[in-house]
Amino acid sequence: MLFLKKRAPQSLPESKPVLDWLPQTLASSLAAAGFDAEQALAVKHSTRARRLSLRADVKARRVVLTFPAAATWRQAQEFVNDQQRWILSQIRQLSAAAVMLQDGESFPFLGEQHLISATGKLRGAAERRDGVLYMAGAPEHIPRRVRDYLTAQAREEISWRAREKAESIGRKISRIRIGDPHSRWGSCSSQGVLSFSWRLVMAPEEMLDYVVAHEVAHLRHMDHSRDFWTLCQSLTQTNVSKSRKWFKVEGAKLFSYHGGTI
Ligand SMILES: [Zn+2]
Repeated sequence: MLFLKKRAPQSLPESKPVLDWLPQTLASSLAAAGFDAEQALAVKHSTRARRLSLRADVKARRVVLTFPAAATWRQAQEFVNDQQRWILSQIRQLSAAAVMLQDGESFPFLGEQHLISATGKLRGAAERRDGVLYMAGAPEHIPRRVRDYLTAQAREEISWRAREKAESIGRKISRIRIGDPHSRWGSCSSQGVLSFSWRLVMAPEEMLDYVVAHEVAHLRHMDHSRDFWTLCQSLTQTNVSKSRKWFKVEGAKLFSYHGGTI
């Protein structure tokens, strides 16, 4: 890693398109392997970072270059130039880990592996039984439909739990939103709107239950105080610290599943 001396004043350098600064050899290797450099790499300008560094962002499936205010584009280019092999191998791994939710692939539903099977003979759009998710419709529409199905299932699994828990502490939920945030599994607004990731429906049931308990506990405590954690633990049978650990270790895997374009 390259450490930089502090330099004043610290103003952020101008942004540049990836292809303007990427070493030519790396650009060619990426192109040859079928990757779009603009998507595979990102620069994060930072006033707090002290050194140039690279990390794999599993959720966004790209490599991020942290660019401190004290660094120059020339230093960044040299740094990236030295790390070409690492960058390429990371991008390869990140893309290999991506699973499109299509016919023949499998994914966890409440922690249990399920196979996606395209079939023309269904009454509805989807049917889940004995570890198989049967999907009707044209193959090209299946990833999007599986995702829609999982979003609907997430809403169902989360809603009844959230309502039950909120009622037990005498609080009201104004709305439940299911989305695809990249930085958190759930959140709670001061207006009582609870938001959750659709991906939670892939986590084991007890882990999903913990996230619901966490957000509902925020209806009473809008902080992470000791009182908050005590209430959170009282709202779920799952061990809270075990769940938090689970999300740290296993959570990123739930981001490798995709419905639609990669
Ligand atoms: Zn919280």
